[in-house]
Amino acid sequence: MTLTPTQVSSLAAERLQQQRQFFASGQSQDVQFRLEQLQRLKDAIQERSAAIVEAVHADLGRPEFEAYFEIAAIAEVNYAIKHLKSWVKPQTIRTGLDQFPSRGRIYPEPLGVVLIISPWNYPFQLSISPLVGAIAAGNCAIVKPSELSPHTSHVIRELIEATFDPAYVSCLEGGVETSQDLLAQRFDHIFFTGSTRIGKIVMAAAAEHLTPVTLELGGKSPCIVDAEVNLPVAAKRLTWGKFVNAGQTCIAPDYLLVDRRCKDELLAQIKGYLQEFFGENPAESPDLGRLVSQQHFDRVAAFLNNGTVVAGGTCDRSQRYIAPTVLDGITWDDPIMQEEIFGPILPVLTYDRLEEAIAQINARPKPLALYIFSNRKAVQQQVLQQTSSGGVCVNDTIMQLAVPELPFGGVGASGLGKYHGKASFDGFSHYKSVLNKGLWFDLNWRYAPYQGKLGLIKRVIGV
Ligand code: NAD
Repeated sequence: MTLTPTQVSSLAAERLQQQRQFFASGQSQDVQFRLEQLQRLKDAIQERSAAIVEAVHADLGRPEFEAYFEIAAIAEVNYAIKHLKSWVKPQTIRTGLDQFPSRGRIYPEPLGVVLIISPWNYPFQLSISPLVGAIAAGNCAIVKPSELSPHTSHVIRELIEATFDPAYVSCLEGGVETSQDLLAQRFDHIFFTGSTRIGKIVMAAAAEHLTPVTLELGGKSPCIVDAEVNLPVAAKRLTWGKFVNAGQTCIAPDYLLVDRRCKDELLAQIKGYLQEFFGENPAESPDLGRLVSQQHFDRVAAFLNNGTVVAGGTCDRSQRYIAPTVLDGITWDDPIMQEEIFGPILPVLTYDRLEEAIAQINARPKPLALYIFSNRKAVQQQVLQQTSSGGVCVNDTIMQLAVPELPFGGVGASGLGKYHGKASFDGFSHYKSVLNKGLWFDLNWRYAPYQGKLGLIKRVIGV
């Protein structure tokens, strides 16, 4: 059933109200309850794995193998279930003699009712992984998946409705209007994954209520290839990272910065791997996804007019198909270098000195990911020390995402806040500092009259 905008608006307010009451009951904060809900979520995902894979295929033409990446949300659930009891423990800290007698503790407490807004490119995983953090930390949550991946959004809603009390966790499907209706409400935290442009809108709406935000955004993630490198492995790994999900991955290498000395050989290797992965005619490959919408297709296909085609270069609007493409002879002034590509086109820029490549990266907004392929430790270190990005993967692409112990998120224009593993729990928690003082002993040094105590305060302060 499709709801009218007015119905959606009142439903958003009603759900929030119900969730506020549920949160106030304290039920979501009980650790056993959280563990049970996480287990229910895991079972629900497992039961629907085939439906999820089918829906992602329907939305994005994603091959079955790649559609299974979505089910990786289960790894987040498993990790949270395994560690939750240690995460919820308050941390005891030692207090100084000036506080005697006292004990300091830091308690993780849930934030309340949180809003999760997700994009279409990994539509299931990017809705469910943040939800795992929200539940683990003891919150109630409303999830708003993307309207551009409607099949997956239906599965998410069905799963959430079948698994949770709507007063605890619920899902509202819809587009921009639904998102705006939700953003007009006062949540205790907003977790947004999407573009930098909409991230600004979300942050401005959140500011109205002083609601804290996590912003998982995008940007242009560079991939540097040094001349001293195992070229076949580097080429294979970066070709995979760029073209998986037809390039519609937030941490896909957006563009190549390659040392001139190895450029020709690298491009030849990439071309070879494209043939190996997708065959002579990638349009017929069962292993290559499609662009999500006509509008997105038109935006990305326009970039094919730049540079010199090394591989690919063709497209078919009726199929929303763009061949995996490598473009050489690109400059920073070309349109393809002005925005995040988010499609299967790899522009190539060349450098003679590493310092040039670093300067070019540093002259632009901080990226979500940065890749450096090099055998040389000194080169790896130089790039690590002289650039800033949400994360880095040395000698591979995308894989940094799959290590739950590595907090994931952007910096500057690529995002604010982190998640995955314990970072998800932390992002949905408030760490409350509590100083607990004994009443059985009371030092007199801070009370008036101050006469004769000046020396003491100076000693305490250390001047
Ligand atoms: P988007 O910003 O267009 O949309 C994301 C969500 O915001 C959707 O649910 C949409 O309904 C909602 N939305 C759209 N316009 C809105 C508005 N005016 N007001 C309020 N809500 C609005 O992003 P997208 O196209 O779905 O996803 C692609 C972008 O997401 C890329 O930039 C990509 O890099 C980024 N991304 C980032 C990560 C990450 O983890 N950092 C992961 C995936 C995608």
